[in-house]
Amino acid sequence: MAYFADNLMYDKIESLSSLKSTLALLNKTTEDHLFVCSLCENKIWYFSDFDKIFDVKIDKDRGISLNNLINIVHPFDRDSLKLSMEDVKTGKSDTYNSECRLMNKDNEPVWISCKGIALKIDNKLYVTGRMSHQELSHMFNPLTGLFNQFRLMADLKEMYKGDIAGYLMMLNIDELSAINLNHGRNYGNALLKTIATFIEELPKVNAVYHNERSYFTIIIDAKTKDEVTEIYASIRDAVKDKCTISAGVVPLSKEFFSDENSLYDSLKLIVNKTKDYGRNSLLFFEEEEFQKVMSSASLLDELQKSVSENCSGFSLLYQPQLLSNIYSLYGAEALLRYTSKSGKKIFPDEFIPVLESSKLIIPVGMWVLKTALNQCKIWQKSIPNMHISVNFSMVQLRDESVVDDIVCALNEAGVAGECLTIEITESIPIHEMELVLSIIHQLKAKGIQIAIDDFGTGYSNLGYLNQMNVDEIKIDRMFVKDIDKSLQNCGVISQAIEFAKQNAMRVCCEGVETTKEISVLEMYSPHLLQGYLFDKPLTPDEFTCKYFDPTSVDYLNKQSFIKGLTLARNKSNKVQFNHKDILRDTNMGLWVMHKTNNNQNIELFFDETMERIMGLEEKLTPDKYYEFWHSRIKSDHVKYVDENFDLMTTLDKVVQLEYPWEHPTLGEVIVRSNGKVTNKSDNAVVIEGYHRIMSNIKEA
Ligand code: C2E
Ligand code: CA
Ligand code: CA
Repeated sequence: MAYFADNLMYDKIESLSSLKSTLALLNKTTEDHLFVCSLCENKIWYFSDFDKIFDVKIDKDRGISLNNLINIVHPFDRDSLKLSMEDVKTGKSDTYNSECRLMNKDNEPVWISCKGIALKIDNKLYVTGRMSHQELSHMFNPLTGLFNQFRLMADLKEMYKGDIAGYLMMLNIDELSAINLNHGRNYGNALLKTIATFIEELPKVNAVYHNERSYFTIIIDAKTKDEVTEIYASIRDAVKDKCTISAGVVPLSKEFFSDENSLYDSLKLIVNKTKDYGRNSLLFFEEEEFQKVMSSASLLDELQKSVSENCSGFSLLYQPQLLSNIYSLYGAEALLRYTSKSGKKIFPDEFIPVLESSKLIIPVGMWVLKTALNQCKIWQKSIPNMHISVNFSMVQLRDESVVDDIVCALNEAGVAGECLTIEITESIPIHEMELVLSIIHQLKAKGIQIAIDDFGTGYSNLGYLNQMNVDEIKIDRMFVKDIDKSLQNCGVISQAIEFAKQNAMRVCCEGVETTKEISVLEMYSPHLLQGYLFDKPLTPDEFTCKYFDPTSVDYLNKQSFIKGLTLARNKSNKVQFNHKDILRDTNMGLWVMHKTNNNQNIELFFDETMERIMGLEEKLTPDKYYEFWHSRIKSDHVKYVDENFDLMTTLDKVVQLEYPWEHPTLGEVIVRSNGKVTNKSDNAVVIEGYHRIMSNIKEA
């Protein structure tokens, strides 16, 4: 054995007794237990107060039999201790290095780190070195005697230096504090000790750690999840009369976890997640979920780099918005795109959430706004009131300087506020409504238009929507899709459009894909249409070609497509009139007059437009409506009006008359009434017609 021949120390030790006296002297300088052990005599000599802490028989010579020592070693550690002794005995190793638990006089385990070297004196084999209970004192849990969190991390770190395999499982006793409260802390402590012992005895369990309170972590030598599940099940079953226990499991894998910290963090995360699944639950690390987290982390890295490089990799596409019925260009919505350095196109559904959660959407959003405004300014050379719509998310609106930044961008680009529409999604958290209202208020003061995006998908508070005083609502494409087949969607759209019109808002229907959808949609007369039927989002060049360059083929194709659309609609005679809208928009008030008992009883009914144009602010009974209308006819015209209304009852033709009438707020106006009998019996007659205030109509 080369080692012994070269060992200088060995040469200088003349006898066992001189070694002993040196060790006795040195032991006065340390808390450790210095020893020398004879592997031939099975004896070990100590020079400390070892026998005061541990229950051993020490002879006059300060020697203890090795059997006596092995008796106080924790049963689980005896085998590994014997093995390392064997290694020295057989010459396999010339150093001795082990950790084991010795049971102290109170029968509590104490972790001991033991280090020694082999040497020969008088041709006999000895090991000398030191045992330390200090070195490991902060590494184990005093209750169960198991290694703790510190040690777990140190061991994992060590493991990461080599190849790793198997699984790491963290167990948690469900609601240990409730168990302590109900049964007392001693009961809880005994339970922890029982579980610790049980787990240590399990096959395939390589190491057990008691991290803290109710948490244990075990290293499992298993190849499959099934094997791991079996181990978990045996623990769960063993404790089922006393408590329930949940567990999270991660594979020991360098591929998923680059170091011990990321491994442990993921494990902890999964164990915490078990709480959402109730008691006795076992959760495994899911690779798919991990890949998602990882890819969004690397996407974030890339996005960050792009932002710092003046938003390189980002670009804008523009989707046209057309006026319904005539299909001429109203404006465009700017839609953000991102191409990664590797050339992969990434869609907004993927990168917008990453931009939002990292708040990078704030600088990127400003880049979008500026780029879109500059583009709009170019297009305005051809269509001076070309509109541009830009999406803003809540994260952007929370930014303190958002209003100033928007106004500044507008000024820089030289675009009028009226040409910019800021699209805000419908789902604004209720507690942020005040903030959003104030931002809208400030933006509107600058003429900027506001649209509510994805209308119908959230739970819009119509009250707030009124207060917001927005200019446009964009009906989400889920309601537009297949509208020709869905009565329910028709209901949503007609109500939304009704609401918008009553509140003087513009309506844009998104996601129009088919001519069938258009023909149904236009029955409700929305203002704007946007969707793949007209165009997918286009690059600025494509957009320019299709909508601004009469010499380009794309432009001509577009024109003929629109012509075709109009023709097809006219041919199928499918133009749908929304009578109610037309009457309201042209201020034609409808009325019905009931006359009974030879004009003794006259009742008059107004529709809403009639009430509005006649300046009525309250609902009246039918006889009072008549009185209201009749009493305001200019006195010198009463006879003329009465005669003509009588004529309506006798003549089977439309009668038209005009007369001065005292309007409650406008003063004297000229009213034109048209009416005709629609029903008649012996003592009753019904006349229907419309009123219009002529002096209020602008001359053409
Ligand atoms: P959005 O604001 O609702 O935009 C409309 C989305 O519908 C766009 O998806 C558009 O390409 C798509 N679309 C338009 N017409 C049709 C159609 O006929 N059929 C179908 N199936 N889809 C149609 P895109 O571009 O993928 O944008 C997705 C979302 O990303 C946008 O939804 C918006 O919420 C967000 N986003 C896009 N650009 C920006 C931006 O610059 N800033 C912010 N904050 N969000 C943005
Ligand atoms: Ca939008
Ligand atoms: Ca939308």
